Amino acid sequence: MLFDRTEEKRCTRHPMRKADSFCHRCKRHFCIDCLIEAEGYYYCGDPECGGSGRELAATAAAETNQKHAELFCPECISTTETEIARSTFTLNGCGTMLYGSGRKCPKCGSEESSAWWCLFFIPILRDGRYRVRWFGSGRYIGRKIKAEVLGKHA
Ligand SMILES: [Zn+2]
Ligand SMILES: [Zn+2]
Ligand SMILES: [Zn+2]
Repeated sequence: MLFDRTEEKRCTRHPMRKADSFCHRCKRHFCIDCLIEAEGYYYCGDPECGGSGRELAATAAAETNQKHAELFCPECISTTETEIARSTFTLNGCGTMLYGSGRKCPKCGSEESSAWWCLFFIPILRDGRYRVRWFGSGRYIGRKIKAEVLGKHA
């Protein structure tokens, strides 16, 4: 079937509006007002797509935890949040980088590291502590360490 090339994607709920993205679950198109962002994906908020707001965040977090269960031991999962370290993206030495390592977990091998916002390779601003599993140079999965856990051994 040939597509009408002039046809734009429209929001499922607002036919008058241009669609901005689509729901990660049902793949229908929506405008930005209809979309909820959770764990890096957009959702439409319909009950079958995980519901709205907090519900959705909880479902998405549970899914991420499940995925991370292969990489981190239960203790490291429970002391961290699903907020993942932004990938080490640096353009001319500007962006977020992970510095330092320590407190290696004997069970899963994850290490603590600090994320730093860098400007021309110079760390400027600390951007949280993370528990990180490294897979070769520059590749990692990191989970943000919960504030109350950090307080304990600060
Ligand atoms: Zn949906
Ligand atoms: Zn809409
Ligand atoms: Zn561990």
